[in-house]
Amino acid sequence: KNNLVEINNLKKFFKVGKNAILKAVDNVNLFIEEGETLGLVGESGCGKTTLGRTIVRLYEPTQGEVLFEGKNVHKLTGAELKNFNRKAQMIFQDPYASLNPRMTVGDIIGEGIDIHGLYSGKDRTERIYELLRTVGLNKEHANRFPHEFSGGQRQRIGIARALAVEPKFIVCDEPISALDVSIQAQIINLLMDLQQKMKLTYLFIAHDLSVVRYVSDRVAVMYLGIVVELTKSEELYKNPLHPYTQALLSAIPVPDPEIERSKKRILLEGDVPSPINPPRGCRFAKRCRFAKPICKENDPEFKEVSSGHFVACHLY
Ligand code: SF4
Repeated sequence: KNNLVEINNLKKFFKVGKNAILKAVDNVNLFIEEGETLGLVGESGCGKTTLGRTIVRLYEPTQGEVLFEGKNVHKLTGAELKNFNRKAQMIFQDPYASLNPRMTVGDIIGEGIDIHGLYSGKDRTERIYELLRTVGLNKEHANRFPHEFSGGQRQRIGIARALAVEPKFIVCDEPISALDVSIQAQIINLLMDLQQKMKLTYLFIAHDLSVVRYVSDRVAVMYLGIVVELTKSEELYKNPLHPYTQALLSAIPVPDPEIERSKKRILLEGDVPSPINPPRGCRFAKRCRFAKPICKENDPEFKEVSSGHFVACHLY
C-alpha cells in the first residue's frame, strides 16, 4: 500500500505570553496509508486537533514536514495547492459552529463546487441533491438553514460539504463527540460506508478508545504533544504496551458484565501536566505506575518493538 500522508519530525509550538512556549505537537512521526483509517486518540490538550489542523494546512508547522502524495503540503503553490485543498478535507467536532448560519445548506455544499469549478447550472443543483441523498438527507433540505436541523443532521451537512469536492483524505476531528449517543452510531456507520464507496482515507480523531476501536485500522495514542504508541487496532486492544494506553483501555466498559467485574481498572492520578514548558524526560512520568529514575531524565525513544508496533517507553 502507498502512504498517502507522511508526517516527519513535525513540531507545532505556540508562543504564550512573553516567553512561554506551548508545545502542542512535539516531534511526531506518522504515516497514513491510502484507504486506511488511522485513529488518533488522547485526552483534550494532547495536541491531536493541532496535528490534524497542521496536516490540512490550517496551521504552519514550527518544524518538520507533512507530505501528501509525496509533496510537502506547506510548500505547495498555484494549481498544486488548489488540488491539495480539494483532496484533503476536514470534518469538525461542532457541526453548528462550522456551518455558516446565513447560508442555505445548498450554498454551503455548493461553495466548494464553485471554488473548484466542478459543476455549474443544473448539474450543480443535481450534484447538491445527490450529495444530500448520499448523506441521508434529501433535496428539500437544500433551501433550509443550518439552525433548522438537529446536531446529527448538521454533521451530515458537514460531511456532504467535505464530499462535494471529491476528496481523497478527510481529517475527522471528533465528529461525534458533540452528538447525542443515539445518533453517534449512525454518523459512524455513514462515515464507514462512505469510506468504502469512495475509497477515502481517514485520520479519525477521538478522545477515548471506545469508538476508535471500531473504525480504525491502526491507532496512534497521543500524550502531551507526543505519540506514545502506534499499532494495528486489534494489537492495541490485545497487547497495549504503554502504561498510558493501558490506563485508557482499562477505563472503557466491556459489554460482558463477567469480564467487566473482573477487570482491573487503572486509575490515572493527577491531571495532564501543562503542555507549556513540559517536563523533561517521559511526559507521562508523573502519572505512571512504573516510573523509574531514568524516566524523569531521558526522553524515551519511539521505537518499533514488534512488526508495526511502536512505543515510546523505557520499559521496552
Ligand atoms: Fe512510565 Fe517510564 Fe514508560 Fe514513561 S518511560 S511510561 S514513566 S515507564
